[in-house]
Amino acid sequence: MRIAIVGAGIIGVTTAYELAADGHEVTVFERRGAAAEETSFANAGVIAPGAVTPWAAPGMPAKVAKYLFSAHAPVRLAFPLTVHELRWMWQWWRACRLDLYLANRARLQRLAFYSRARLHRLTEDLELEYDRSPGYMVLLRSEKDARLVQPGLQVLRDAGVPFSEIGAAQARTVEPALNPDTGFLGAIHLPEDEVGNCRQFALLLKNVAQGLGARFEFNTTVAPLDSAAPASLLVVAADGAAQRREFDAVVVCGGVDSAALLRPLGMQVPLAAVHGYSISAPIREALNAPRSALMDERYKVAISRMGNRVRVAGSAEIGGAPGARRPAAIQTLYKVLHDWFPGAAQLSNTGAGVQEWKGARPMLPDGPPLLGATGIPGVWINLGHGSSGWALSCGSARAVADLMSGRAPEVDIEGLGVERLFG
Ligand SMILES: Cc1cc2nc3c(=O)[nH]c(=O)nc-3n(C[C@H](O)[C@H](O)[C@H](O)COP(=O)(O)OP(=O)(O)OC[C@H]3O[C@@H](n4cnc5c(N)ncnc54)[C@H](O)[C@@H]3O)c2cc1C
Repeated sequence: MRIAIVGAGIIGVTTAYELAADGHEVTVFERRGAAAEETSFANAGVIAPGAVTPWAAPGMPAKVAKYLFSAHAPVRLAFPLTVHELRWMWQWWRACRLDLYLANRARLQRLAFYSRARLHRLTEDLELEYDRSPGYMVLLRSEKDARLVQPGLQVLRDAGVPFSEIGAAQARTVEPALNPDTGFLGAIHLPEDEVGNCRQFALLLKNVAQGLGARFEFNTTVAPLDSAAPASLLVVAADGAAQRREFDAVVVCGGVDSAALLRPLGMQVPLAAVHGYSISAPIREALNAPRSALMDERYKVAISRMGNRVRVAGSAEIGGAPGARRPAAIQTLYKVLHDWFPGAAQLSNTGAGVQEWKGARPMLPDGPPLLGATGIPGVWINLGHGSSGWALSCGSARAVADLMSGRAPEVDIEGLGVERLFG
């Protein structure tokens, strides 16, 4: 088939690779000048399938309400919210029901474990060399943090994820550079989880896909799909020249902007941009830097080793202008880095050399992504991967490629199709 893919984030690139590997004629359209320039650019890089759970969970509305009044809050609502955002919040609130949460968590975890296996397979078979380190540790500052993670630990047990609850002294043997002056209760150590550089992986896999014949057309924007001929795309080049391009099928992998692409087809995909931030800085002294990834449970901030850099990522903001950066959110990242690894990064007074980034998680209200056929001939989707798009990418892409080739995916995709939201 001649297949167009809209978007060259981690989801579009993995989809392009799998479809090209299946022998399809693939063309990827990306409005930016390179792959992984938007949300896949500088995320935390954590691959922890047992921790991939919906944000729509029982008790979350009360937590979010409480965070509204705290200084280093991990979750923020930037008022005034738009009508679209209010509707999304309402759908999110309704999806916090226990039965829906459990069903969505099972869907996410099935996909996350499958995806990690697929990621490892591709990394090995294709000899992809990107910055990655094994192991993940959730840092617990206090008894309260330890109490709050208990339901999550039950989830790990149920999923058969190996982990150990360790004291501070043992945590310091896993991560010897942890600040000796910062007292804490202990940690949850997950030796089979990992951290990897999503953008580097995307760039490498893009090259492999190109080797298989996939074409990447950068600096080209695809106009919202036309209901009269959905697989006939209006493609606009950087100089404004527009051209109609004919395909047998299109896969929408446009991250937060997927909803706008699909709207003319009568599909109202409830995607919200949940913004987060990261800072990445060169390591000043390797002995003072983390070995792999850690999560500060209180602040919900991840600290990750990315080769010669350290990355700190966190915050979840709904609403507000995409381009506006909230200084307090970035300050929280510096604070958490300083608390745990004070000498790790080269942070000059001017901030030079430190990359500060804001990204938009493409979030559906109930959690799992949507993938597969839309019911509209020729239109397929792979979108809405929220806070775990890197961890879910390789499995989602393989499943979509299988569906497009008329095969049953290896992973159970119950509840990942459009019928979940559109009946
Ligand atoms: C702070 C932060 C931390 C995170 N940490 C993690 C983590 O630890 N682990 C994890 O698994 N995930 C994490 N994520 C989530 C992850 O980054 C996202 O889920 C993932 O990057 C989404 O990928 P995507 O390809 O769907 O979107 P994107 O990377 O945004 O790609 C979509 C692409 O489509 C293009 N596009 C859109 N519309 C058009 C159009 N009309 N024409 C042409 N091109 C178009 C865009 O330019 C873009 O390049 C984090 C996110 C944030 C913000």
